[in-house]
Formats: sequence, C-alpha cells, structure tokens
Amino acid sequence: MITAPVNMPTADQALARLQAGNARFVSGQMTHPHQTPGRRNELIRSQQPFATVLTCSDSRVPPEILFDQGLGDIFVIRNAGNIADEIVLGSIEYAAAHLHTPLILVLGHAKCGAVAATASGAQLDGHLPAIAAAIQPAVVKAKTMPGDLVDNAVRENAKLVAKQIETSMPILAPLVAAGTLKVLPARYDFATGKVDVLPMTPGGTPWGPMPTGQPITKTEVLRVQQAWADGIVAIGQAYTNRGDYRAVAANHVDTLYAYNLGTVLFKPTKAAQNQFRLNREEALSYFVGGVVPEDKGFALQPWSAVRFVNAEILLHGNTATAMGNYFFTDVNTGTETKVEFTFGYVRGADGKLRINVHHSALPYNPVA
Ligand SMILES: [Zn+2]
Repeated sequence: MITAPVNMPTADQALARLQAGNARFVSGQMTHPHQTPGRRNELIRSQQPFATVLTCSDSRVPPEILFDQGLGDIFVIRNAGNIADEIVLGSIEYAAAHLHTPLILVLGHAKCGAVAATASGAQLDGHLPAIAAAIQPAVVKAKTMPGDLVDNAVRENAKLVAKQIETSMPILAPLVAAGTLKVLPARYDFATGKVDVLPMTPGGTPWGPMPTGQPITKTEVLRVQQAWADGIVAIGQAYTNRGDYRAVAANHVDTLYAYNLGTVLFKPTKAAQNQFRLNREEALSYFVGGVVPEDKGFALQPWSAVRFVNAEILLHGNTATAMGNYFFTDVNTGTETKVEFTFGYVRGADGKLRINVHHSALPYNPVA
C-alpha cells in the first residue's frame, strides 16, 4: 500500500499552484521561487515535486518558466510531441507511485512542429516515423473536426495521451481510480503565455483494448502495424546485443498474432519449402529460426526500421484487412527493401487486435 506524504497537496491544489505560477508568467510578475543555493541544499537528500508535467521538447515550452517554479517543484518529462511510450509511462509511474505527485499535466502547445509534421503526411526520416505514429491517432481524430487541423490535433493529442496515462495498467489506472492521482490535458499558447486545461475526452482510448464486438478502427490497425514494425526491430536489437532475442520474438508472435485464437494464415516472404505457417512454432521459426530447417531468422538480419505504406485498409466490423508495401531498412547497409503485404486483423476476447492473416511477398520483377 502506497501512502502519500502528509504535506503533499491534492491534485486540485497542485493545479491551482501551477495556474498561479502561470498567471505570474503571463503578467510578467515572476517571483522565480526556489532557485537559491539554500533551496539547492534543502533538496540534497530528497525531492518532493508537487506535480508531473509531460510536455514537448520545443525550446519555447520550458515548464519551470511557464509555471514560474524552481528546483524540486515539478517532475518534468519532455519529448517531441509530448507522447507517452513505455519509458515515459515508467517515468510517470515513478513520479506518481514513489514521489506521490498527485497531478499529471499533459501539456501540448500551439504550432507544435511534431504535430504539424504528422498532420502534413510528409515522409519522415530516421527515427521520426516513431513520433509521427504516436501522434497519428490525434491527427486522424482532428481530421473529422471543423477548424484548424494542427491546433485540433495538438488538443486531441494532449487528451489522448492523458487518457492513455489515466488508463495505464498496472500502476496508474488504480491510482486514478483510488482518487489519489489526476491526469489533465492542457495547451500552452505562445501568443498569450497562458496554459489552459482542456476538457477530457470521454470514452475509450485508441491504444487500449476495446470491448469485444466493438468495430475495429483504422487507428487501431495503424497501431498494430507500428507495434509489428517495432517488434521486428526489437528482435534484431536483442540479437545484436546478445539479449534474449527468442523471448522478444515469442512475445512478438504471442501479442501480435492470433495463434491463441486458432489457425493463422501466415505466408512469409522468404519461405520455399514450408510456405504456409499455420501454427505458432513455425511462425516463431520464421522470425528467429527453429523448427523449420530452411529458416535463417528473418528478424535477425537485423533491420533498423520498418515502415508501412498502406494501399488501403478495409474495415468490416470486428475484422479488418490491410494491403500495401512495407519497407525494411538493413542495419548494415542502410538500404530499404520493399515487400508487399496483406494483413487480416481480428479482435480477440481480451479486446486486443491480432493478426489472423499475413501474406508477404517480394514484388514481381519482370527481368529476373
Ligand atoms: Zn511541440
């Protein structure tokens, strides 16, 4: 049982403190609290920040300045687009469960470059596609709204990330349910200097499991494709780093494919003798070698990046089909290999999307 320190404010008190600091910043009446050597000395043994702020890396959005706070006041997590991946969620869990911060503010901002780049649909290089994939659900939502696409996506992104944090298991969701933790989305405006708390979006999250029978959405399909791409890269990284790549591959197959529901129709690219992998062991063998002698371990290449380009995604209630190309970047040469895919998706009893059809092939080459 985790108990909060006695002098920790409530979430509402913490919010009021942030808002008071922001009001000082807006009016130019900053007091720059807690920035003396004395304060620094006070904090040598421990910290007790009263709020956690997840915000963008944008150089114009430093939360200590926007909220006129000092040393030891706020626990800050920043990345381009204020998104929440495993590492961010772990950081928030540390702040909430161990430092007992009662409030988490997810702070987006006007004219966010990460959101604008995602909304533009432009081709992104290096590791930027991972950021765009995380912001994409907000863009998809914003496209259904009137008004400015980027600004609506900034708001939706903050709300969806807040919802993602609020429903995160096993640590944060129970703290929220117990009333000891509050998660709020907010938006910072450069022109006014003001931070406004946004209304939370009711209902489910595109990241979490949905109830069985709930129609599959395009956003969910994109998320599973990104998870598949991340999984292939992760297997290769584990292999390169002499980690337990077989365990990573087993997790990849078990969380993304529907072998737990029955037969999966899987036709991998580089298979000649055993073309169709209808059971889990043969699928696993394809990725890392195993029961099928011809397998060299597709994911052990290794690949540094995988990106999906869908020709189209068809949604049919509780199933979905996607067709297109995916591109695999070789770690050593940096060259991309284009491969064609067809994926089928179903929703399992646990609400999670899983692959039940996967056909992969090298494109037709008339001169070969
Ligand atoms: Zn930004």
